[in-house]
Amino acid sequence: MARIPEEETARLKREVSIERLAEARGVKLKRHGADLIGLCPFHDDHSPSLVISPQKNLWNCLGACGRGRSAIDWVMRAEGVSFRHAVELLRQEHLPLAAKQPGPPPKKSTTVKLPPLAEHTIDDKRLLESVVRHYHETLKETPEAQQYLVRRGLQSAEMVEQFRLGFANRTLGYHLPASNRNAGAEQRERLKQIGILRQESGHEHFNGSVVIPVFNLAGEVVEMYGRKITPGLRPGTPLHLYLPGPHRGVWNEEALVASKEIILCEALIDALTFWCAGFRQVTASYGVNGFTDDHKAAFRRYGTQRIYIAYDRDEAGEFFQIYTHAFEERFFFEIVQRRGYKGFGAPNAGIRLAAQTREARPRTMPRTG
Ligand SMILES: [Zn+2]
Repeated sequence: MARIPEEETARLKREVSIERLAEARGVKLKRHGADLIGLCPFHDDHSPSLVISPQKNLWNCLGACGRGRSAIDWVMRAEGVSFRHAVELLRQEHLPLAAKQPGPPPKKSTTVKLPPLAEHTIDDKRLLESVVRHYHETLKETPEAQQYLVRRGLQSAEMVEQFRLGFANRTLGYHLPASNRNAGAEQRERLKQIGILRQESGHEHFNGSVVIPVFNLAGEVVEMYGRKITPGLRPGTPLHLYLPGPHRGVWNEEALVASKEIILCEALIDALTFWCAGFRQVTASYGVNGFTDDHKAAFRRYGTQRIYIAYDRDEAGEFFQIYTHAFEERFFFEIVQRRGYKGFGAPNAGIRLAAQTREARPRTMPRTG
């Protein structure tokens, strides 16, 4: 699981006023020197046991609870949730903390307080869309995921928006109805069918991954790719994840509509690198062996005339695979260059081959944007 950055928890502890949290819960506070005191809302308190230091933004119950500290601890206690869930509640600034009656805290929260992911009546397409939206919002709030993109040479807010890049950090469940309710059980079951949640554990399939959705031209999500970014994973943990079943769709299909010349990468991250470097007519297969019938059909449908293959140089096998597919589609191949494409913004691969229809000869790399 991705760790919550320390700056983020420090910021919440600093910025969320405990005084305000207490008042929202109906606690009447009185000045007592530099502190504020009141009846503790978390136990049956008759003499004011709750002490709040507005200066340090800390709290403490000197009575039966015998505990306190930060705003996060307050929310954990008040809502009966985990540290992580409390952080998420505070981040969302959705604080249903104004209990009508001060009373003992719930043993364990049974009602999710965050905005729901989706109405439970919506269809699978819309449900998947709302997952993509949640991951997208999460990425924008997660510095470590953004830093990963920067390390990969992908520093572009425009790219993040255009391709709805996201990050999965196990917070999706907080936006679902509780699993002990019908609506919650039903929505989880559907997310399992789609592949967003794992069948056995119910955990998020893409947890700890930067997520790249693949849309069709109607704007529907047809495939998702996740790249794990968590350091120190157990050996053997797959770094590249997809939705279950055969790969569907062509990433950045608009490019094929717009241009007869297309750069084909072996991975979506590589394709994004090209895109950021100004080569907008770019798409990707789903890994070395992930050049699919959908790709072929799209190249045919849009009358693609020339394909620049930008696979890693050290992959020998894929050439043949691509060649075989493309040959049927009347493309032929010519080695155009064997060098790192540093100049194009990605260090590890070489533009190795150009596939083209027999009428066309390779000229220069297309570049726009
Ligand atoms: Zn107390």
